[in-house]
Amino acid sequence: MKKFYDTVVIGGGLTGLTAAVYLSKAGKSVLVIEKERQLGGLARTTKVNGAYFNLGPHAMYEGGAALEILRDLECVPRGGYASKKEMSGIYGNQIIQITKDFSLEESEEWRKVMGTLSDVKTDLLYSISIKEWAEKNIGHERVRDLFYAMCRQWSYCMDIGEISSGFVIEQGKLAANGVRYVEGGWQKVVDNLRKKAEHFGATISSDIKAEQILLKEDAVKAVILSNGRFIQSKSVITAIGPTELCELVQGYEHMSIGKWKGMSHPLYGSCLDVALRKVPDPTCVFALSLDEPLYYSNHSISVRLSDDDSHVLHVMKYNGNNNLSEVEMDERRLRELLNLLQPGWENEVVAVRFVPNQLIAYDSRSVMNHGVGVAPGPVVPEISGLFVAGDWVGRRGRLADAAMDSARQAAKEAINFN
Ligand SMILES: Cc1cc2nc3c(=O)[nH]c(=O)nc-3n(C[C@H](O)[C@H](O)[C@H](O)COP(=O)(O)OP(=O)(O)OC[C@H]3O[C@@H](n4cnc5c(N)ncnc54)[C@H](O)[C@@H]3O)c2cc1C
Repeated sequence: MKKFYDTVVIGGGLTGLTAAVYLSKAGKSVLVIEKERQLGGLARTTKVNGAYFNLGPHAMYEGGAALEILRDLECVPRGGYASKKEMSGIYGNQIIQITKDFSLEESEEWRKVMGTLSDVKTDLLYSISIKEWAEKNIGHERVRDLFYAMCRQWSYCMDIGEISSGFVIEQGKLAANGVRYVEGGWQKVVDNLRKKAEHFGATISSDIKAEQILLKEDAVKAVILSNGRFIQSKSVITAIGPTELCELVQGYEHMSIGKWKGMSHPLYGSCLDVALRKVPDPTCVFALSLDEPLYYSNHSISVRLSDDDSHVLHVMKYNGNNNLSEVEMDERRLRELLNLLQPGWENEVVAVRFVPNQLIAYDSRSVMNHGVGVAPGPVVPEISGLFVAGDWVGRRGRLADAAMDSARQAAKEAINFN
């Protein structure tokens, strides 16, 4: 670690590493600081008994910024696409086959809704909720319920009365292009970005926390680290959440970052990640509940996620902005769902992990609140040299797409600044 860098990047998740690649590729000296030993943040993968567990179900959408950037940086890992064919629906405790168990009229309407989604002009739909849009455009109740379930999956939000239809329909269009899983888990994406950044000369330090961004006359001067070191730099990109960012800046209450912190509504979910020697019902690949915010998918149908041939399945409950969902109830409900879809799964367990109230993204603002309002960053107007990036920054896309797109924007700003 040197004493001076052109830019210090705080956070070693997808956002921080993406920014580091762009900066170092442009010839800037870069230091990435990550407080955990393992890089990756929410995109990290943990190996449990030979199975590779992402932190809950993770997929990239073709046409989204994440894959576009990974291709641009030659960092796309091996992957496979989710099957578009096999899908089950769940009503209460009953499985229905989509669309075999629909009436002829319902099936036709479902095909029409999905088949014409790419033609929907979304420009004027950002201030209309998906509930309002669906009530006008979908006649059959079961078809509407299925569409709402898809919208929950695309947005990770629960409240169909709040989700911006423009935003979520754009997401649906991306999903129609292809939903891509990563062979070996998302850590491969993290590792590829890390290697690329190091190849261009970036220094990446994990297990060290950034404690403070030191300012002098409204400009960035240095970053103070948990090991007591001062790293001088005229620019900093923060690739962390808005609350964590405010902890690093004295006087944030009077700045835009304080306002952005107040505006942010993080998203949460409870995840049951399971690896099985054998899947009791191999035909059950993907299911969404039509009357509860529940998701199930066997990702191993598309990609290898274990050292042996065990299958990795993800079951999840979307909790919206609530991080206090009842832990025991969530676990029981997810296990019940798995009992219904894969009876006898407990006899085949290689690894199982339940994570309640997991942070999924730092903000749902662009998806909720009818998508209105000015988007945060990447420039922090009150502090010269401070730039922000993350899934809560900017306007394009959501989750990893928003994270990586804003990282590219922030890097561009920092390159021009230096
Ligand atoms: C269950 C689940 C499912 C998801 N599904 C999808 C999906 O299907 N598709 C999709 O696109 N996205 C999905 N996501 C979201 C996606 O993982 C995130 O949007 C993305 O990984 C955010 O990356 P980030 O780098 O901005 O933030 P993070 O991953 O949170 O990285 C921030 C990093 O900064 C570090 N840090 C924080 N403070 C400091 C400090 N002071 N000093 C040093 N380091 C610090 C943290 O330790 C962390 O490693 C999902 C997330 C979860 C949890």
